[in-house]
Amino acid sequence: MEPRSRSSDPLTDGGFETLCAHYGEHRLAHGGAVAPPLYQTSTFLFPDAEAFDRRELPQSPYYSYTRIGNPTTALLEAKLAQLEHGTWARAFASGMGAITAAINATIRSGDHVVCVAHCYSPTRRYLEQYLDRFGVTATYVAGLEPADFEAALRPNTRLLYLESPTSGYCEVLDVPAVAALARARGVVTVLDNSWASPYFQQPLDHGVDLVLHSATKYIGGHSDTLGGVIVGRDAVLGRRIAADAELLGATLDPFAAWLLLRSLRTLAVRMERHQANGLAVAEMLAAHPKVRRVFHPGLPSHPQHALARRQLRGFSSLFSFMLVEQTQEAVHRFLNRLRVVGIGVSWGGYESLAVGGVLFNSGGDGGQWLIRLHVGLEHVDDIRADVRQALED
Ligand code: PLP
Repeated sequence: MEPRSRSSDPLTDGGFETLCAHYGEHRLAHGGAVAPPLYQTSTFLFPDAEAFDRRELPQSPYYSYTRIGNPTTALLEAKLAQLEHGTWARAFASGMGAITAAINATIRSGDHVVCVAHCYSPTRRYLEQYLDRFGVTATYVAGLEPADFEAALRPNTRLLYLESPTSGYCEVLDVPAVAALARARGVVTVLDNSWASPYFQQPLDHGVDLVLHSATKYIGGHSDTLGGVIVGRDAVLGRRIAADAELLGATLDPFAAWLLLRSLRTLAVRMERHQANGLAVAEMLAAHPKVRRVFHPGLPSHPQHALARRQLRGFSSLFSFMLVEQTQEAVHRFLNRLRVVGIGVSWGGYESLAVGGVLFNSGGDGGQWLIRLHVGLEHVDDIRADVRQALED
């Protein structure tokens, strides 16, 4: 990706790959080590009692306790803030830790939330089965037009919760238009950007207030770490999220932060290969007589393909498809024949994965047997041949 601006210092304002490699690193302070130190510690010592008493002042140079802050995690947060074009980032122990923190920071008892219907299903469960205890209500919008979201807003709506593309059907929203109408009503927007990763989309530039990730997915990329992050520009929201995180305790472990820093080094090259492999498999499926429909925003047949091309710099490799034969037996037959592609949840890692089911978040809108495929980094010919042979009689 091109640098954002011609800058005198590519280490702080250069291209995406340069920032992943160098932003925020102070190597000479660490003996020149090219890998950052891992501060695997729960607590920190103070040089004297006066420094201890000043520990909560913003100008205090000292860390105190890892639930509140840690230098390894702080480096990850600084890098992710820069990659998402934010001014601050807060890391969490998982994507769900980030999702619940973002929602909690923006609503109060009695508020109303507008949410995309096909969001990650535990997000919907959190709104429906947890926050309902606190009098929070929610409306789920299945339509994709900005007017569909506008129609769902109520006087007490505080939060618009978005995913684009969604991780089941890969539905794409007009993010700048939806964010603008929310802003005009004083409604905060949050967007789960796990599908695209910051390499393909920076939603803060589209007017979204908070962007979040399951770092377990593409940011981590190796299926060995759980993590989450929220990035924003609004300093008040940033302080509230940091204060809440200290109380609720879903802090990222420093070793996980260190692994995620390691993963960021290769995020750009991994995303390029995920994109190429994913499109190759999606195109093969789209032309296959046993396949009814492929939901991949990079295919010209996708209903929001033109919008997706405008809004995203590229496409990740998570998508769904429908077999012509709409039965559980057909889905199971396909999954059980796969050899390179594993049967398993999650995505964004080096390995190809598939799961099948009746939608992934039905929202009461019917029953279609879908297979969700995450195309990994194995050789594209092996993945394509595996999927093709699994479709045979
Ligand atoms: N957002 C999306 C779109 C997801 O698919 C997931 C997990 O599958 C999450 C968030 C939650 O992330 P985590 O499993 O790291 O809590």
